[in-house]
Amino acid sequence: MQKRRIIFRIAPYNRLSFPILLNAWESRQIDRHFEIIIRETPLTSEPFQEIRKDDVVLFSFMTPHLPLIHEEIKSLKGTGAIIAGGGPHITHEQELTLEMGFQVLFIGPGETNFLNFGMDLLEYKLEKIKIYPCPTPAASSSDLNTYVPIQKYMHGTPPLEIMRGCAWNCNYCATGLQNAIYRNLESIKYFLHLASTSAKKIYRINFICPSAMEYQAQKGRQHEKCLAKIAELLHLTRSYGFKFIEYGIFPSEIRPDTVSSEGIKILKQYVSHKYVTLGAQSGSNQRLKELRRAHTVEDIEQAVSIINDEGFMAYLDFIVAYPGETPEERWENLQFIKKLHKKYRIRTQLHYFFPLPGSTYGFRFPAFLSEDEKAGLRELKEYGITRDGWVDNEKQMIHYFEWLKRDFPAYYSRYEGTQRNFSSS
Ligand code: SF4
Repeated sequence: MQKRRIIFRIAPYNRLSFPILLNAWESRQIDRHFEIIIRETPLTSEPFQEIRKDDVVLFSFMTPHLPLIHEEIKSLKGTGAIIAGGGPHITHEQELTLEMGFQVLFIGPGETNFLNFGMDLLEYKLEKIKIYPCPTPAASSSDLNTYVPIQKYMHGTPPLEIMRGCAWNCNYCATGLQNAIYRNLESIKYFLHLASTSAKKIYRINFICPSAMEYQAQKGRQHEKCLAKIAELLHLTRSYGFKFIEYGIFPSEIRPDTVSSEGIKILKQYVSHKYVTLGAQSGSNQRLKELRRAHTVEDIEQAVSIINDEGFMAYLDFIVAYPGETPEERWENLQFIKKLHKKYRIRTQLHYFFPLPGSTYGFRFPAFLSEDEKAGLRELKEYGITRDGWVDNEKQMIHYFEWLKRDFPAYYSRYEGTQRNFSSS
C-alpha cells in the first residue's frame, strides 16, 4: 500500500527548524509510516509530481516570508492536500495564516505538537482546521532536553538550541515573550556524542542561544554567574575533538552589557573564530531606551574595547528605521558607527526594521528613511564601514506591505504609524 506523503517545504530560512521535528518523529518511529519528501524548491517553480489529495505539506516561516508562502499555498488550493505550518509568525498570529489557507497550525515550540500531529495523522483524527496549542513551559523544557537536531532525511546538522526564550523584552523582538529555558549538559553531551559518531562527518559545532553570555542565567540578567557554565559547555564540546567550535557569533550573539574580559577570555580558549558578534541595535541612547534594551551606547563601546583587547574583532549589528525613530537618532547612530570604526577593529551590519507579530512593535510601520539618509548609508558601504543588509531588508519590507495591502486590506489596516504610499496594484 502506498504510504501517505509528508512534504517538508525546506527554504534557507527554515533549515534550522525542521531537523528537530524529524528527530522527534524518528525517535518514536512515526516517520516509518509515511513517505518523507524534502522539497527544496518552491511548489510553484516547476511541475511537482502531481499533488495527491492525501498529501500533507509543511511550512515553517517568519513574517517577511508570507508573500512567498502565499504564492505556494495558492498553487495547492483545490488539490485536497493538508497545508500545515508553524514557526515564529504562526506562534504569534493565526488570523491571517488561516485566511491564507493554512488548515493546521502549530503554536510555539514544535516537538510535542509535531508528535501529536503525527499520531493524529496515523489515526485519521485530524479535523478540518486544527490548532495545536503552545506547550506548557514544563513540556517545552522536557522537549528541549529530549530531542536533538540529528536526523536522516536532510543534509547537514543545524546548531544545537541550548536556550529557548530570553529574559529581556526588547520592543522589536518576539523571542523575549517567554521565560528562558535551557538545554542541560546531559542533553548536550548526548548530542555531541551523536554528532561525533555520525556518518555525516560533522566538523563544526555551534549553538542557538539568544544571549550567549546568559546561558543558564537563573531568571536571566545575571550573566556574571553564567561564566562557569559557559566554560563547562565549551570544555565539554572541545573534549569531543570537533575541528570548529563556534560561540558568540550567529546564532549565539552577545548582548553588549554582558561582555567582560573574563567571559571573552573563556571564548578565546575554545572557539575557532576570530571575531564575536554584538547586538548593538542603535547608537542613540534615546532610541536604546525606547527599545527597552536596558544598555547604553557607552556599554557598547566598552564591550568593543574589551573584545579588541582580548584579540577578537567585533562585529556589530544595528537596525535602522525603528517605528518613531527620528532623523536625529539616525544621525547619532551613524556618528557612533563612524567613531567606533575609527577607534576599534570592528565591522558593522545594518538591518532595516521589520515589524514582527508578538513584539511590542508588531503592528507598527517602520520609520521610512529619506533619500539623503539612504545615500549616507550607501556611502558607509562604499567606504567599507558597514555592510548593507538594510537594502534587501527594505525591499522585502516594501514587498510585504504591498502584498498585504492588495490581498489582505483589513489586516493591513491594523498597522499604525506613518505609512508611505504602498502600491496595492
Ligand atoms: S533582542 Fe535579544 S536580548 Fe532582546 S529580547 Fe530579543 S533575544 Fe532577548
